[in-house]
Amino acid sequence: MAEQATLFENGLIVDGSGGSSWTGDLLVADGRILRLGEGLRGRLPDGLAPDEVQAVDCRGLAVAPGFIDCHTHDDAIVLRTPEYLAKLSQGITTVVTGNCGISLAPYATAEARPPLTLLGADSFRHPSMAAYRDAVNTARPALNVAALVGHTTLRFATMDDLSRAASPAERAAMGALLDAAMADGALGLSSGLFYEEAFAAPAEEVTALARIVARHGGVYATHLRSEMATILEAMHEAGDCAFEAGVPLVLSHHKCAGPTQWGRTRETLPLVDRLAERQDVAMDVYPYVAGSTVLREDLVDGVIDVMLTWSAPHPELGGRMLSEIAAGWGVDQKAAARRLMPGGACYFQMHEDDVERVIAHPRSMIGSDGLPHDRHPHPRLWGAFPRVFARYWRGRGLFTLEQAVHKMTGMTARNFRLAGRGLLRAGHAADLVLFDPARIADTATYEQPVSPSVGVAAVYVNGRCAYREGAAQVLAREGRMLARGA
Ligand code: ZN
Repeated sequence: MAEQATLFENGLIVDGSGGSSWTGDLLVADGRILRLGEGLRGRLPDGLAPDEVQAVDCRGLAVAPGFIDCHTHDDAIVLRTPEYLAKLSQGITTVVTGNCGISLAPYATAEARPPLTLLGADSFRHPSMAAYRDAVNTARPALNVAALVGHTTLRFATMDDLSRAASPAERAAMGALLDAAMADGALGLSSGLFYEEAFAAPAEEVTALARIVARHGGVYATHLRSEMATILEAMHEAGDCAFEAGVPLVLSHHKCAGPTQWGRTRETLPLVDRLAERQDVAMDVYPYVAGSTVLREDLVDGVIDVMLTWSAPHPELGGRMLSEIAAGWGVDQKAAARRLMPGGACYFQMHEDDVERVIAHPRSMIGSDGLPHDRHPHPRLWGAFPRVFARYWRGRGLFTLEQAVHKMTGMTARNFRLAGRGLLRAGHAADLVLFDPARIADTATYEQPVSPSVGVAAVYVNGRCAYREGAAQVLAREGRMLARGA
């Protein structure tokens, strides 16, 4: 019967639900989980002979659903570098693209402008989600891809002037593009109202689009209009928008940014809990005190540390601190930033206590927010998921192993409507990660950000082994475009 059957024996089964783990076996055939239990070798299904089954000894290892990175800007990198070791080596088997209002599809242009350039300037050639889906499936990446549709991308695709609200005709055009993308399997809508190119959009513009998402059963994820002084107002705006439209809400990379805002997760997290009493709401978070985005003068305040991640006019300065560059040039940091644009930076804008509170919150999921095109990227690109185990589970004991895995798998699949993934269940896709709970850790740092994690023993995507610890290259490319499920 089965073409390829694999029996994972004597592993610590952490099934993604957040429930207790147990020691046992998992049988996989034809890319799917066939059954879970103890002593499965002695009771294989009819028609499956023991010599047809490849056994994998999992003693000392946790066996978990492959991690789902729900906050990525991986739209173009999965086409350009389908091996994508940065993510696979963390145990990630699915990436959710199109976050922060910025998606590769549906939009075709020869010359993309910021902030779309976060995805690489020359990659915008997919006028529909169907075209992007076909491109992903042709590229055959090592991990699965599921896509949000970016509000800012829709504005670029339909408007000539982004410094204003969309007209009724432009709203209709955005709605038609979104409706078609949802019909093609997109997970939902994302917005990045913080960015200048979307900031002029009133709440009604987004709510109208979110209503289309609601009709398709999708989700709305938002990079809030502000993560600084007016964050509570921005959260109310997002909450009302999703509530009125009738869609589940995800607050992207939740944080309180800037020293004047430190400690305010004591206000924002209770607001999340209050919103949750009337609507479906979740958050994603990355486990670092530095954020990273394009180089922006308004984020350079002379107080927080800023590290350059790339610069078009000065590529040789990637990885250097802005304060040093400014001192060397004899100018202030804002002036130095202007000379370095267009570029990107890490902003050390959060307090560790806030990061811990968000990560520990029962409604937070892990998302890397890694920027794969940066010359000297934020270390979250290579290390976010293992770091949660090393620093916040083993180091700080903020939650159990099972809860940590749940924040990366079952909770994420449910919130992003990824059916048949995120849990170890018979019939689910065999996306698996085998890791050593005592050893799993990130090695990527701000100084040396390109560095694979340790303790991730093996990663399986759709039933095939795609990665083994220490392997310099991926072993299989079995990923595919995933459509929104129930
Ligand atoms: Zn964002």
